[in-house]
Formats: sequence, structure tokens, C-alpha cells
Amino acid sequence: MIENTYPLSWQKDDFQIKVFCSIPNIATGILIKAAKNYFIVDPGDGILRDLNTEIGTKNILSVSDIFISHGHHDHVGGVWSLLTYMRVMRKTTPLTLHFPKGCKEIISIYNAFNQVYSHSITYKIILNEIPDPKKFNSSTGLVITPFPVIHKEILNDGVTKRQVPAIGFNFEHNNMKICYGGDTAYCTELEESAKNADLAIIEAGHNEHENIPDDMHMTLKEAKKIGESAKEYFLVHVPE
Ligand SMILES: [Zn+2]
Repeated sequence: MIENTYPLSWQKDDFQIKVFCSIPNIATGILIKAAKNYFIVDPGDGILRDLNTEIGTKNILSVSDIFISHGHHDHVGGVWSLLTYMRVMRKTTPLTLHFPKGCKEIISIYNAFNQVYSHSITYKIILNEIPDPKKFNSSTGLVITPFPVIHKEILNDGVTKRQVPAIGFNFEHNNMKICYGGDTAYCTELEESAKNADLAIIEAGHNEHENIPDDMHMTLKEAKKIGESAKEYFLVHVPE
């Protein structure tokens, strides 16, 4: 178990993942490689810089799928940069954005991007708004099973909460599984998904000064309990 020292890297055979960072309210950024194919998960601010250093332009342009757990800025802040960079560098292959149904941030970024660059987009963008946890395959063979999670946010009155459109993902390749919970409170869907995963990436975003479980993030204790049910795990999104 590694805690909060970024980047976090994991590899088993030809399945790899690198968590560039996962800092609450700042940025997340995750890269998966399965065989020769790259996938991006939760591209927060800085993702383009990290990808450029890690895999370079040609490989960034080859990306077919971006997975988004929810629309909070620390998980989507880099989407605009990625879409624009791919246009400037003349990506020609399609790109699918996978995100939870009702995630206004992604739809808004997509609409704004189309509006601004309507005459100069070199590649097709496909939106996969995920309504329920059905298994599907990426165009390059990764098997994805999304699952619903509990992640609330406080409204302007400072008291009322609403559930954010939010999901976690199981990524499977050659009988190996990575479970990524995104931002979530303790929930049975995550518990079941993380169990026996080759790697579980579990958030522990709850402020430890108030060690009472809530419906936004998990305490360290809750996160470790879920993490320990997997073969290996990373704790991420821990307040600094
Ligand atoms: Zn969040």
C-alpha cells in the first residue's frame, strides 16, 4: 500500500496504470495502458503536461477513450486542453468521452468546444453518457464496467446536499482488473467491485479531523477496509 506519493505506478504483465496525482480540489490525472493502447481517466488540470512528458504527442493522439467519474473541476479541469491539443495536433481517429448521465460539465465543455472550433475539428468526438452500470468494450479491447457511487456536494446555502452524477469504473484486460472508485462515500457497489481486483484505487477524501463517515468521501478507515479486499490498492485523494 502506498499513500499519497505521486506519481503512483502499478503494472502487471501488459496492464499498467499511473496516477499522476489525485489531490482534492486541485487535480486528478490517470493514465492506463493495456497492451499497446492508452486510456485517460479523470483528466484534471495538468494532465496534458503529464501526458506530454510520459507518452508524447503521437501516443496522446492515439487515445481512443477518456473516462470521467464525475464533473467536479479536480476531475475534468484538463478536458478542454486535451480536446484542443488533439485538434491543434490534428488527431484523426475518433475519441469517446465516457461520463455519468447528467454530468453537465462534460456536455458543456463538449458544446463549447464544438461551437468555438466548429470549422476546424479534425477528429470525431463520441459522447457515451452512462445511464446505468452496463458492461461495454472500448474500441481497443478494454472491458469497462461502470458502477454507481455515492458522492454528494453542498449547495449554496451551505447545508443542503445533492447527489452528483458519479460513477466508478472496473477496467478489465486479459483477466486482470483495476477498480477505480472515483470520489465516493462508502457504498456496497464499490465494496463489491474492489473485492479481489488486482488493483483498487480508493479515495480517502474525508477530512480526518471529523472522523465521522459522511456521504461525500471515505475516511481512511473505510478506504483501507475496501482497499484491503483487493490484491493491491492505492489510497488517493487524501487531503494534504
Ligand atoms: Zn468530487
